[in-house]
Amino acid sequence: MRNQIQSKIDDIYLRHLNNTAGSPASYIPELAKADPRSFAIVVTTIGGEVFSVGDSEVLFSMQSTSKPFTYGMALQDLGRVFIMSKVGVEPTGEAFNSIVELEKNTHKPYNPMINSGAIAISSFIKGSSFEDRLKNMIEFFSLFTEKKIHVDEKVFESEKNTAHRNRSIAHLLRHFGVIDGNIEDSLDLYFKQCSFSLNTIDLSLMAATLANNGVNPKTNNKALNQEYVGDILSLMFTCGMYDTSGKWAYSVGIPAKSGVSGAIFGVVPGELGIAVYSPSINEHGHSVRGIKVFQDLSRELNLSIFRK
Ligand code: GLU
Repeated sequence: MRNQIQSKIDDIYLRHLNNTAGSPASYIPELAKADPRSFAIVVTTIGGEVFSVGDSEVLFSMQSTSKPFTYGMALQDLGRVFIMSKVGVEPTGEAFNSIVELEKNTHKPYNPMINSGAIAISSFIKGSSFEDRLKNMIEFFSLFTEKKIHVDEKVFESEKNTAHRNRSIAHLLRHFGVIDGNIEDSLDLYFKQCSFSLNTIDLSLMAATLANNGVNPKTNNKALNQEYVGDILSLMFTCGMYDTSGKWAYSVGIPAKSGVSGAIFGVVPGELGIAVYSPSINEHGHSVRGIKVFQDLSRELNLSIFRK
């Protein structure tokens, strides 16, 4: 299959190059500045081979593609029992920033892939100060790449200054006793992780590290305890694409996570990681071209975890 990958992604790239549907996210003003023509597809195998086409070095902020990794970090630091007591593992069928199920039903976030769960997870990240917690997070994320992750401060400021909805979610979490401590710090940590800046090659290596049981195929660093890889992938599969997770499971069949910057990454366990970047998103917050690429790639390379 490996010698087919490059020609296949070249082909799929050209097929979708002229698709101009959707537009870059604008509720975080800095994200609206992305060039909608940017488009990249990168596949990294667990052997460390990289197949790439398009603007694979263009930087973007991780946004919600960061959520699975912070979840892994929190599981590793605090254990499954504590994390499960705070954040559930059920899909919501609601939008990524929904507040309704938190208020109406369980009074605890349904899962760590939606904003309420991810804000709670960020609040649990350990450290002696805000700076120390951020440093720990950056070090953890950097184990999945080949370089040190940095924060896009413009995106951070832009998100922090417009995050009225996320701020209300955090206050509700505090009200229900899911989180404690300084709410602003927890929110800032969440905004920082959403502002981690990388390119499609980096994100595909992060995906390949999950595909490789938590070991980075390029550096051989043990990024994540193997024990928690399955927790992350199962939640990406059931909740990673928010209120279109069912359709994604059916039409793509690969655990994946999207971000409103236009990135999507997917993990084929024991085989490879895939990342696509194209900033124009649909009403669910997913890259329009990203969805098309994953659907075609999965079908044409037989990547669905159910079609082996
Ligand atoms: N930072 C974004 C927010 O909280 C993440 C959403 C996403 O990427 O889906 O609204």
